[in-house]
Amino acid sequence: MLPDQILNTYQNACSRLICLDYDGTLREFADLPAAAAPTSEIMALLQALSSDGNNTVILCSGRDYTDIDLWFRQLPLVLIAEHGLWTKQQNQPWAALAKTDNAWKVPLLALLQSYLQTVPASFVETKNTSLVWHYRQAADQVLAATKATELVVALSHFKQDFPDLQVMPGNKIVEIKLGSHNKGTCLKPWFDQDYHFVLVMGDDTTDEDMFKAAPANASTFTIKIGPGHSAARFHLADPVAARDLLAQLSRLSHASHQ
Ligand SMILES: [Mg+2]
Repeated sequence: MLPDQILNTYQNACSRLICLDYDGTLREFADLPAAAAPTSEIMALLQALSSDGNNTVILCSGRDYTDIDLWFRQLPLVLIAEHGLWTKQQNQPWAALAKTDNAWKVPLLALLQSYLQTVPASFVETKNTSLVWHYRQAADQVLAATKATELVVALSHFKQDFPDLQVMPGNKIVEIKLGSHNKGTCLKPWFDQDYHFVLVMGDDTTDEDMFKAAPANASTFTIKIGPGHSAARFHLADPVAARDLLAQLSRLSHASHQ
């Protein structure tokens, strides 16, 4: 249960920041990432929250910017993709933090592909600036989780050649990217501002960077979606509960503009 304090603080704040992860937070996972497109319910929620002039709503995802652009560019949101590498301010083009050189992917791809035989039904997703090994569909989840741990260790050896390599175990995935940016560093320009209400929601390892970077005060509500240890102050069970909270907030916005 979340305290009424969230609703009360939202209602009384005239400047609000809402930072939302997408997969596993707003939207349930699908077997294949491409199948997890936003539903009309999610689009309506984001539209309602972002059309309140007191709200700045940021969608902060690890997905490719091409997915995020396709799905969300028509909404008045700040869009952040690939764990902060790409940012799109409203009515602006996408801007990248750094030039991307993908030569690092070649040796790692060979290692990831060697896991496809060991864990049947696992697959490798090649994103613009990262590689992801997915094992959600593997029949033997115990074996897959063991292999994921082994893979993380094997990948860490590549840090000798690529010191900026980040290996990020997540929900039935292991993701690898290059660069020191993360979901916390990319949100710093907003976290440094004096919002009267800050909400941060995420479900996975990479979202912990947002929780840790968020302002530490009573008007900041960090919420981990799903089970597991987290730096977030609060927990909600699943994306259904996350959407329910956002719906309650959007109703408060709507009521105050009547
Ligand atoms: Mg997520």
